[in-house]
Amino acid sequence: MAFRRTKMVCTIGPASDSPEALERLVRAGMDVARLNFSHGSQADHARRLQTLREVADRVGRPVAALQDLCGPKIRTGTFPRGAFVLPAEGEIDLVEAAQAAGARDVIPVQYEGLAEDVVPGDAILIDDGRVALRVLGISAGRVRCAIEQGGTVRDHAGVHLPSRSLRVSALTEKDKADLAFGLSIGVDYVALSFVRSAADVRQVREICEAWGKPTPIIAKIETPAAVDDLAGIVASADALMVARGDLGVEFPPEQVPVLQRQILGLARAAKRPVIVATEMLQSMVHAKRPTRAEASDVASAVFDGTDAVMLSAESATGDHPHVAAAMMARIIVEAESSSFYAPPSSMPNDGLTVPEAIARAACGLAREIHAKALVAFTSSGSTARFVSKARPTVPIYAFCPSEVTRRLLALYWGVQPQRIDDVRDPDVMTDAANAFVLANGIASPGDKIVAIFGAPAGVPGTTNSIRVRVCG
Ligand code: PGA
Ligand code: MN
Repeated sequence: MAFRRTKMVCTIGPASDSPEALERLVRAGMDVARLNFSHGSQADHARRLQTLREVADRVGRPVAALQDLCGPKIRTGTFPRGAFVLPAEGEIDLVEAAQAAGARDVIPVQYEGLAEDVVPGDAILIDDGRVALRVLGISAGRVRCAIEQGGTVRDHAGVHLPSRSLRVSALTEKDKADLAFGLSIGVDYVALSFVRSAADVRQVREICEAWGKPTPIIAKIETPAAVDDLAGIVASADALMVARGDLGVEFPPEQVPVLQRQILGLARAAKRPVIVATEMLQSMVHAKRPTRAEASDVASAVFDGTDAVMLSAESATGDHPHVAAAMMARIIVEAESSSFYAPPSSMPNDGLTVPEAIARAACGLAREIHAKALVAFTSSGSTARFVSKARPTVPIYAFCPSEVTRRLLALYWGVQPQRIDDVRDPDVMTDAANAFVLANGIASPGDKIVAIFGAPAGVPGTTNSIRVRVCG
C-alpha cells in the first residue's frame, strides 16, 4: 500500500465484524476501529474488540479501538414490520415508545419527555433529516405532525427534537454503564456524542480517572452549544470529531462546510487530532464506486489538513465495507501525492514549549537535509503528536515501548508506530532506527534520518534532543 498520512477510522458493525471482514478492513488501511454504542449490545462490542485485537496482531499493525458513546440521542422504537413508510404528505402521530405497544399507525419514539418537550410549529427531523415533520398539536401523549418530507423510517432511526437539549444530560445512564464497560474491556479512545460544554468532557474524564485509565477523550462536535463553547471544549478534550451527521441537522446543511473548517482550525491551533466524519462515501453503502462529490469531499478534508477521515454505515452495515475503505485510502493517497497538498502546521514560530519547538525544528531540519524519515522515541506519545501536528513532509516512525500507546498513535496523522523495547540509551535507539529504515527499504546507506528524543529518556514531556543519523 502506498504511504498514506491521513488516517482512517472505520465503524464496525454487522457487515464487518467477522474475523475475515475485519482483516480485510485492516488490510485496506483501517487505523482506528469505531465501536458505535448507539447500536448493538455490550457483548457484541466486546466480541468485536477481541476479534479486532487478534486480527491486528496477525496483520502486525496496531489498530486503535474507539468507543463511541451514544449520548442523549433520541431514537425511534421498533416497528412491527422493521420499517414504516411515510407518504409524501399527510399527518402522522408520534408516541412515546413504551406507550405505542405495537401500534401500526404511529411512530414510536424512545423518549419519555416527548409530549412535554415539543410545541406546535417545531420541526422534527428523522434519520439525519431524511424525513421531516412539523408539530401540529399535542393531545393525550400523542404528538400530531404534518409530513413535510416523507420516506422510510427504520427501527432505531435518530430523531431530532429542537428543544431536546433543555432536558437531558450529555452523559446518560446508558452512557455511564457503557463507558464503565468500555474501560473494563480496554478501549483505546472514548468519543462523547452531543457534547455541549467543557464540563461534559470533564465528567467523562473524572470517570476514566476513577477507573485509573488515562483514556483519551474525543469530543464530537454536533450541537450549537458545542460550537458556542468550542474553545473550552477543544482545550478540555484530547481530540475532536466533526460529527457532520447531527451537525447538519442542528445547523442548516450549507453551514456544515464552514463549521468543518472552523473546527479544523481550532483543533490545529490547540494541536489536537481531528476526525472528519459522516457520509464521506455514503453512496458506497450499496454502490461499488463513490459519487464524484464524495471523492471530492474526502479529498477536501485531506487538503484542509484533517488528521483522519471516517466511514460510518459504509463499513458498519454496507454491502462491501473493505471496498469503501480501499477507495477512501486511494482518494487520500492521490490527494496527498498531488502538488496541491500542503497541510498547515500547528506550530507557529513563536511561543512554543520545548518539546513543540523540538518537533518543529526537527521537521524543518528533515526537509532541509532531505532526510528520508523522522524517528520519534516516545513513551507517552506526546512527542509523536507534536511531530505529527508540525506536518513534516517525510514519514514519521514513532518508536514506542508501550503497546497501548502504539495503538493510540494509529490515529495520528503521518505517524507509523513501531515497537522498541529500550528507550533509555540514545545510541541504542538510533541504532535500532537505522537498522529498521535499512531493513524496510526506507533509506539506503548514506541517507540521513532525523531522530528526536528526550534525555534522560523515558520521562514523558522531556523531549529536548535532535540527532541526525547517517544510515549505514
Ligand atoms: P453518530 O455521530 O454517527 O454517532 O451520529 C457522527 C455524526 O453525527 O456525524
Ligand atoms: Mn451524531
